[in-house]
Amino acid sequence: MVSSRKQRIDTLVAEVEREFQETSGSTGISAPDARLVEALRRVPRDAFVPDDSARFAWENRALSIGHGQTISQPFVVALMTQLLELTPESRVLEIGTGSGYQAALLAELAQEVFSIEVVPELARSAAENLQRQGYRNVRVRAGDGRRGWPEAAPFDAVIVTAGAESIPPALVEQLKPGGHLVIPVDSHWLGQDLVLVTRGADGTLHRRAVLSVIFVPLVGGEGGTVDPWS
Ligand code: SAH
Repeated sequence: MVSSRKQRIDTLVAEVEREFQETSGSTGISAPDARLVEALRRVPRDAFVPDDSARFAWENRALSIGHGQTISQPFVVALMTQLLELTPESRVLEIGTGSGYQAALLAELAQEVFSIEVVPELARSAAENLQRQGYRNVRVRAGDGRRGWPEAAPFDAVIVTAGAESIPPALVEQLKPGGHLVIPVDSHWLGQDLVLVTRGADGTLHRRAVLSVIFVPLVGGEGGTVDPWS
């Protein structure tokens, strides 16, 4: 039986909610909040995947977007977004624009989104796509995101959607007091630990490993990636 677009979205939301529940022992979060669920329903994921994958757009899995890159799994996108604790006033920095899907979700929940993508073709197609979908509060730049976006800093939230060897110090520096940074950091085992860094109101940093995840690598040499905790 062919299901309608609405049924597919309902099924995806149910799966995302189930995965929040199943991983709550590790993440400490048992459900996505209502605003996030609404945003997941609104963002047309099918508009952010290549035409030949559009039929899989509402499945809870990562998909190829060319250039060896992927659009992340909806559950992971949702979890990372929830960890940022966005408000309608938040200014957010994303590293790894990719398809632009995560940027669109952030744009639904925050005031302003700044997103950096290292593959120029992806930066261009994501920016076009975001514009076509009516997202006016996202700015996309091509370049190495590990340096952040100093002219627009500081940010209430920073999200890195590629696996890093260590946490780029510039991204921590560009985080406001009370802000959250979420980043997959290579684990000693396989893949990465999704790490949540919070800057306290007094400026102090706290970090917590939330869940094991697998991301494509954050590219770039070793320069300037000294882990502030090591
Ligand atoms: N957020 C994306 C998922 C992107 S996959 C989405 O919603 O579709 C990770 C992306 O990070 C890839 O597009 C990759 O090219 C990009 N990337 C890797 N290293 C980077 C770097 N140093 N700076 C900016 N982008 C980078």
